[in-house]
Amino acid sequence: APVLAVVGRPNVGKSTLVNRLLGRREAVVQDIPGVTRDRVAYDALWNGRRFTLVDTGGWEPDATGLQAAVAAQADLAMQTADAVLLVVDASVGATATDEAVARVLRRSDRPVLLAATKVDDDRLISDTAALWRLGLGEPHPVSGLHGRGSGDLLDAILEALPETPRDDFGATGTGPRRVALVGKPNVGKSSLLNRVSGELRSVVHDVAGTTVDPVDSLVELDGEVWRFVDTAGLRKRVQTASGMEYYASLRTRAAIEAAEVAVVLIDASEPIAEQDQRVISMVEEAGRALVLVFNKWDLVDEDRRHAMKRELERDLVRVQWAERVNVSALTGRAVAKIAPVLRTALASWDKRIPTGRLNGWLSDVIAATPPPVRGGKQPKVLFATQAQTRPPTFVLFSTGFLEAGYRRFLERRLREEFGFTGSPVRISVRVRE
Ligand code: GDP
Repeated sequence: APVLAVVGRPNVGKSTLVNRLLGRREAVVQDIPGVTRDRVAYDALWNGRRFTLVDTGGWEPDATGLQAAVAAQADLAMQTADAVLLVVDASVGATATDEAVARVLRRSDRPVLLAATKVDDDRLISDTAALWRLGLGEPHPVSGLHGRGSGDLLDAILEALPETPRDDFGATGTGPRRVALVGKPNVGKSSLLNRVSGELRSVVHDVAGTTVDPVDSLVELDGEVWRFVDTAGLRKRVQTASGMEYYASLRTRAAIEAAEVAVVLIDASEPIAEQDQRVISMVEEAGRALVLVFNKWDLVDEDRRHAMKRELERDLVRVQWAERVNVSALTGRAVAKIAPVLRTALASWDKRIPTGRLNGWLSDVIAATPPPVRGGKQPKVLFATQAQTRPPTFVLFSTGFLEAGYRRFLERRLREEFGFTGSPVRISVRVRE
């Protein structure tokens, strides 16, 4: 379903409006991995059309200040939603913060709607008109108190939302596959992007029909066109100031979410950093395919190579399933190897194991190594099915709880048997008494 992101300052009446729009059905239908802390997604239905409403949560000022937090939230909403709804308190009028976020949203190539809340009284309609100056078109007056205007607003929302969401991964084979190029500052992201788009003489296309910075780059690698998402900043070589770390991390998350596969770039000439591990965790949490690219290989000598071997064993065993490529954006070394590795990772991410084969394998594994006894009982694993692809997600039905260690063992054996190189794999266990 297409996604509507709702943004707004705290206390403008956003939650009340969200409940109105949902018809007070508040069931959380999905978690958006990696951003569950700030955002909640709901299934919404109006006039027979479904859409997903993402409530972006309040803007809490952090170390970088309210304005930066607001801008970052709006930016994230813009990048991950098909349309954005800005909620403003008509009884207060547009504050400096509202104006700051409107500035960000005016650059969006997605439709943006404006809701003016707390219009409980006809006399307040004139206050609503003042909100035209935010430059986001017609303000839609709504009252949380008696629900006035929410039907008109919903009509406007549905008109603004496209029929098919842009992040519809279900539509495979349509268009280039989406790659996020991420990593801490100065690992060489811009250099690598310039290298691949320059050397292969491929044009860095602008996204058609947008009046804003084109966000993605189309790059030809190994005879195939790929969509590198959210690379506007990289192409312009905008260096992230240290004070904007929060913002940079939101951008990284947004890029990962918008992508199918993430290339995590790591500086091979330096010890693997905490920050590298955080970016890798974001990819795992988001359930995207993963390729580890070690850059600046031209600076790596024998000593560094040895040190790195130890660091890999210590810090990256968790993602042993991800392939590594050692490149130099400077010299062009091994850059051509990235495309085949991306393909492998995506094939794993898309892969579906037929239920018959899965259960044949499962019964063999369990016969040889049954789950550990708990509380004097031997749990029996009855059945497994692959519930989802992208990433492959398996559900096991069992008569008792399976310990984390045993679940990890099953994942290892599953990977050995079916090969999921480059993709996270999820296993959940349903206990049936
Ligand atoms: P970004 O912040 O990740 O986009 O990193 P940049 O692409 O701006 O690169 C940061 C610095 O590392 C620049 O000075 C680059 O010239 C340098 N750099 C990038 N790739 C390589 C490489 O493969 N080898 C070496 N020696 N330097 C590199």
